[in-house]
Amino acid sequence: MEGRTVVILIDALGDEIARAHDFQPTSLGYRTRLRTVLGFSQAALTSILTGATPAEHGLWMMYRFDRRRSPFRFVDALAPFGGTGRRMIRDLIRWKVGRLDRVTGYYSLYRVPAGILSRLDLPARRSVFERGGGGRCRTVLDEASLRGDLFVRDYRTPSAQAFDDLEESLRAGRAAFNLLYTAELDSDLHAYGTRDRRVGERLDAFAERIDRIARTFSDARLLVLGDHGMCDVCGTADLMGKVEKAGLGALTDLIPFYDSTMARFSVRQGDTRRRLEDLLSSLPGGRLLSDREREDLGVPAAECGYGDPIFLCDPGIVILPSHMSIEPVAGMHGYHPDAPCMDSLLLSRDPIPPGISTICDLAPLLLPGFVGGEGSA
Ligand SMILES: [Zn+2]
Repeated sequence: MEGRTVVILIDALGDEIARAHDFQPTSLGYRTRLRTVLGFSQAALTSILTGATPAEHGLWMMYRFDRRRSPFRFVDALAPFGGTGRRMIRDLIRWKVGRLDRVTGYYSLYRVPAGILSRLDLPARRSVFERGGGGRCRTVLDEASLRGDLFVRDYRTPSAQAFDDLEESLRAGRAAFNLLYTAELDSDLHAYGTRDRRVGERLDAFAERIDRIARTFSDARLLVLGDHGMCDVCGTADLMGKVEKAGLGALTDLIPFYDSTMARFSVRQGDTRRRLEDLLSSLPGGRLLSDREREDLGVPAAECGYGDPIFLCDPGIVILPSHMSIEPVAGMHGYHPDAPCMDSLLLSRDPIPPGISTICDLAPLLLPGFVGGEGSA
């Protein structure tokens, strides 16, 4: 088959991590560092596949403040039966959101309390690896599917199996566009940190599979890339405790959402906002994001429902406890893209054209002729 493309998308394949573990598949002679976007994997993967910033595609964070659109509103009625920590309640929420709301995008309930969950919407109703999964924008997969068969494996398939499936698909020669996405390196890095031996072993295994594909299918365009890097965690910030201690813990005044590296707030009245902003500006370990900075970073503006104000942690600091976790982790991402540990990278068998410096520049390289822009979703 002529002109087929293989894209191996490795979540959290950071430039510094690849260097530290000498990750360099011998078949891929060209390499460039990539700036990521502010946010987590949902934002970054959507930017890679749409060529758009989070402000443009709209899928910045897993959760957005919006009670009217929330698929979790019914959770309030479950309060007498226990909180979202109960397995039965969590199973019921997953069933309702999956079956009735038909949400196929990745989300996790983590440790979000019921009173907050019922005020949150899931902006990514579809997986970014499905057609129409790019929010307001068309994805590389949307356009590639119009041209012919696709091969896609995402985090739901263990990577060893996904690589086997990819080789089989390439041998069969049906798909012109092949995408393998794995999140296993990301989990290793969260659990063990960036310098652990197990991270190196994971990367060695990927390099071996990639080189084998390169040798066997010498006609294919082969691109290997990440979506963001990872920082080793060096400290924690107890924002939840500080906000509650300052008397700002009542959900009638404000709704907080504590991500791992960002605390986002939906504030109901002016005086609360002033007190909250005064408190957050006085805390160590991070700072408030200004409107101007949000615009420069290409993330949704204050009125888009993702939170205002937003406290962003310094690289290496995690909010603990958070709605994501009560346990500390060894590695984290979701910091300002200026932090060198956040940079990702692109490796290619063919020369990389000039002008590719951020993950938002990749879509036309992944799929030559990609038009992008607003989608039908
Ligand atoms: Zn991660």
